[in-house]
Amino acid sequence: MNKSKPKKKLITATHIQRKLIAPFVYEGMTAVDCTVGNGHDTLYLAQQAGKSGHVYGFDVQATALESTRDRLEADTADLARVELLHMGHEHLEAQVKESADIIMYNLGYLPRHNKHITTTTETTLKSVCQAMKLLKSGGVISIIAYPGHDEGARELGSLDVMLKEINQKEFDILRTEFINQVNRPPVLFLIEKR
Ligand code: SAH
Repeated sequence: MNKSKPKKKLITATHIQRKLIAPFVYEGMTAVDCTVGNGHDTLYLAQQAGKSGHVYGFDVQATALESTRDRLEADTADLARVELLHMGHEHLEAQVKESADIIMYNLGYLPRHNKHITTTTETTLKSVCQAMKLLKSGGVISIIAYPGHDEGARELGSLDVMLKEINQKEFDILRTEFINQVNRPPVLFLIEKR
């Protein structure tokens, strides 16, 4: 038995996202990282998908994709299973021709980078609608939205309105957030297809 003091379990929205998508992950899965950013999620998905899996990653910033390629190489993850696409995730439907088990979004801008290169309400909604079609039955979409900046607040508001209208016979949709944090904390949505 492990007798050491338990570590803090609820850390950030991204940690909770990992825990909540873990039951959906399996070797051979098809996964899409719609906001590659620093590449941590792309690497995680590639590791979990294994050699027989397939991972797509979208980002509008070439530097994000370059550093992600380095990260994948350093981990010796088989790059053949990962397709990095230098374009917006609003092209999801046009680019990914197979249904997906997991589709992830970590919205906003890259911390410590150009704050003007951020996901936008219109393209995010467009992409999430496409993702809901592309998703396999039993698959999951996870979205972290950051209302701390103006465009992020608009994006979250619009996502919330749209997702509340989705037929519960087709999708189960969960919204989770830390309710006692200052500065408009992030919100995590999970969308499971029935
Ligand atoms: N806010 C998060 C990080 C988000 S990174 C955090 O705090 O950890 C978001 C990434 O999305 C950035 O790398 C940005 O270049 C990318 N991005 C912006 N618009 C996009 C779009 N339309 N399609 C795909 N990626 C996009």
